[in-house]
Amino acid sequence: MPQQASLLMPITGLEQPDVRTGKARHVYRCCAICCYIFNAMPEGPSLVILKGEVEQFIGKKITSVSGNSRVDIARMQGQKIIDFKTWGKHFLICFKGFTVRIHFLMFGRYAINEERPSVARVSMLFAKGAFHLYNCSVQFIEEPLDDVYDWSGDVMNDDWDEKGAKKKLRAQPDMLVVDALLDQNIFAGVGNIIKNEVLFRIKVHPETTIGALPARKLTQLVQEARIYSFQFLEWKKAFILKKQWKAHTKKVCAECGGPLTKAHLGKTARRTFYCTHCQVKYEKPAAAGDAQ
Ligand SMILES: [Zn+2]
Repeated sequence: MPQQASLLMPITGLEQPDVRTGKARHVYRCCAICCYIFNAMPEGPSLVILKGEVEQFIGKKITSVSGNSRVDIARMQGQKIIDFKTWGKHFLICFKGFTVRIHFLMFGRYAINEERPSVARVSMLFAKGAFHLYNCSVQFIEEPLDDVYDWSGDVMNDDWDEKGAKKKLRAQPDMLVVDALLDQNIFAGVGNIIKNEVLFRIKVHPETTIGALPARKLTQLVQEARIYSFQFLEWKKAFILKKQWKAHTKKVCAECGGPLTKAHLGKTARRTFYCTHCQVKYEKPAAAGDAQ
């Protein structure tokens, strides 16, 4: 189980270069996503973990704010945090009348209650505790969040709308499934790991187009994107996520024992791992009512 934020413990033998100074620094157990975030863009479930870790600051006033962000972060000084929310890969710090949107990009990370942090993009100090964000994009949102975000498009959200996702997919029949899963307007929160694992799980080749997918496979695609995301969350909290990977970064197929293919596919050209034997590349548009 993850350590409490107040019990910061460096992981023995595990150090990463500080992104800013290049000097080696410990990776702390408290940070549920930092170990990953050095190598991969965080996915929605990781931000849900972060949200849980910073709940201690809800209702607390920021006594001091600093950092190298180019936006007017001084505006947060003296303000009380009223909530934290996530939408896909966006981490939202909510204040009365405005919101700060954090995107961790490729190499973002955070630290909570760290005593002597390196210069952060944003450092928030409270009467008790601190929250630091590094290498991330910071933006202010002035509008009400319900006007900005379609919560039903976030795979981790209670309002996730399976039918709505299918409708968005059917509107783009020429899109490859490998691009569809990474499309944040359809599957907000899904990242590269979830993409690879979901396609392996539903046995669909990443270069199948949405229009060629049989109806049953389209349903599986939408359902498993959410199911896997919640399993990702539980496995990550228990520090066993990597052990559960069947395709991502793997060389051998867990189903047939054959070699997995690694290729940079789709518009995003992200790493894709798949089995050409087990994962079917559907070619023709499926007939209505086709069960397979
Ligand atoms: Zn296989």
